[in-house]
Amino acid sequence: MSSGEYDIVIVGGGAAGLMAAAVAAGKKCRVALLEKNTECGRKMLITGKGRCNITNSRKWEDFKSHIYPDSNFFRPSFMAFSNDDTVEFLNSMGLKTVEERGMRVFPLSGRSSDVRDALVSHIHRGGNVSLFTGTEVLSVNPRPKGGFDITALFLGNRMRAGHIAARCVIIATGGLSYPLTGSTGDGYRFASRLGHSIVSTQPSLTALIPYNYNFGLIGLTLRNVSLSLEVDGGVVQQEFGELSFTKGGIEGALGFRVSRKAVHALVAGSKVSVVIDLKPALQEQVLRDRIQREYRKDVKLSRYLERLLPLQAVKPFMDSDPSLSVNNLPVKLKHWRFDVKDYVDYSRAVVTSGGVSLKEISRKTMESKVVPGLYFAGEVMDLDGDTGGYNLQIAFSTAAAAVNAAMASGR
Ligand SMILES: Cc1cc2nc3c(=O)[nH]c(=O)nc-3n(C[C@H](O)[C@H](O)[C@H](O)COP(=O)(O)OP(=O)(O)OC[C@H]3O[C@@H](n4cnc5c(N)ncnc54)[C@H](O)[C@@H]3O)c2cc1C
Repeated sequence: MSSGEYDIVIVGGGAAGLMAAAVAAGKKCRVALLEKNTECGRKMLITGKGRCNITNSRKWEDFKSHIYPDSNFFRPSFMAFSNDDTVEFLNSMGLKTVEERGMRVFPLSGRSSDVRDALVSHIHRGGNVSLFTGTEVLSVNPRPKGGFDITALFLGNRMRAGHIAARCVIIATGGLSYPLTGSTGDGYRFASRLGHSIVSTQPSLTALIPYNYNFGLIGLTLRNVSLSLEVDGGVVQQEFGELSFTKGGIEGALGFRVSRKAVHALVAGSKVSVVIDLKPALQEQVLRDRIQREYRKDVKLSRYLERLLPLQAVKPFMDSDPSLSVNNLPVKLKHWRFDVKDYVDYSRAVVTSGGVSLKEISRKTMESKVVPGLYFAGEVMDLDGDTGGYNLQIAFSTAAAAVNAAMASGR
């Protein structure tokens, strides 16, 4: 570790930390990026099923409805470094991108490692950013006369602790999901010791586990269905699209989209159900007329269902209601109910909801309102999005805002 004081120390070399360092690369400032793993961006490597859904190219008016809990907080940093800016910046590093269904942007190569490597190469080319891997930050303390003292553990052949001085610090340590990638909630501890409030965290974009889960469903994907989330008997969210049944439970785009509200409701002790409409394009009466027209009494109901449902869905659908008959079939097809018992924990949740309270962070600069010179970027904050590239864009925009403000601060 070089001696002397850094202008900016970035804690955490994930999506946000790498983007912050990339924006600062080549500029007139001395930056250190500290990452506890032996390589940066370990979580980035598993994003988008190894393909990295970099961002979503929707315009802000549509984009904002995918950001929680407060898209207004995200607006200034998105406007200053948008989804288009992200793509342009990565393209300028030589990374080609492609837009797919749902306006999701991926690297053309289909390899998430290419996104991570493009950022790392750009950082190295700048010449002013020192990248320290195998460096675990233990504490961040303000110095009496300004700036920060950072204590870190250097995990080389001989493990040793040391101190690093910085004028500004950006905390980009991520949340709690997929802890094996390095995000173990350290940033919450640093922020809380520095006087910040932490909004209680929950796993989000995670599988919902039904009562009496029928393992015959595992591997089934239902397309063009509609899903209603019920909390204590009332519908609180309705979505249309694709859902999958996995070993974990109900997930896929639809399952994930409702998981945020579902997990919050389960934690609050409410009764949560997921109701699937398998024939959303048909009114119940139209469906009834069709069944009456088509169904022949000499054919078993399960046989007839093979015309209406994917084969794998037929048995679990029949099993879900022993009273199923041709008379109640239209209602049941439009209301396949799963009462939700639990949810999959952080070990396999895509993101963490909750985190450092947005009330104590400037939405333009990401600077702490509690400790001057301290900044936040990415999932460590109480800011998260739907699947579809929204979470990486949160990391990228907030990182750019934080590092640009830190560079401009003149501290
Ligand atoms: C399986 C999976 C797939 C996903 N796919 C997508 C996708 O396709 N598109 C999308 O938009 N989002 C996706 N996400 C979400 C997205 O990856 C995260 O929201 C994003 O990575 C958050 O970036 P971050 O930099 O804030 O945190 P992270 O990427 O988690 O990075 C935090 C970094 O800080 C380091 N760190 C933590 N504590 C310390 C410490 N004390 N000292 C030093 N370093 C430390 C960690 O090792 C880690 O490298 C996915 C997530 C998962 C789990």
